[in-house]
Amino acid sequence: MENNKRKCLECQEPLIGRADKKFCDDHCRNAYNNKLKASNNNLIRNVNNSLRKNHRILESLNPDGVKKVKKDTLLTKGFNFKYHTHTYKTKENALYHFCYDYGILALDNDWFLIVKRD
Ligand SMILES: [Zn+2]
Repeated sequence: MENNKRKCLECQEPLIGRADKKFCDDHCRNAYNNKLKASNNNLIRNVNNSLRKNHRILESLNPDGVKKVKKDTLLTKGFNFKYHTHTYKTKENALYHFCYDYGILALDNDWFLIVKRD
């Protein structure tokens, strides 16, 4: 059929057969799924690495439990503000971003408070 433009998700060859078919054969299906899985694993590994690095940075900057640092200090060390494990909002509406047991709170003028949860 001329209007049938469906292609195999793996090899891009035109597909023949059932309308819900996505792959030529099992080989293409397996190859595609393996690549997808590998890229998911990479994503998880990269996020885990960023979280671990953030944690290491907060730990090194805050040996005594509470510490105020400038945003630049965090950035220079390679802190990635995109990643945290959870948040905590106080009754006063202060929003802490936690990386495991260490949390940061944005203060005025690019200062951050680093705290450690007991
Ligand atoms: Zn194929």
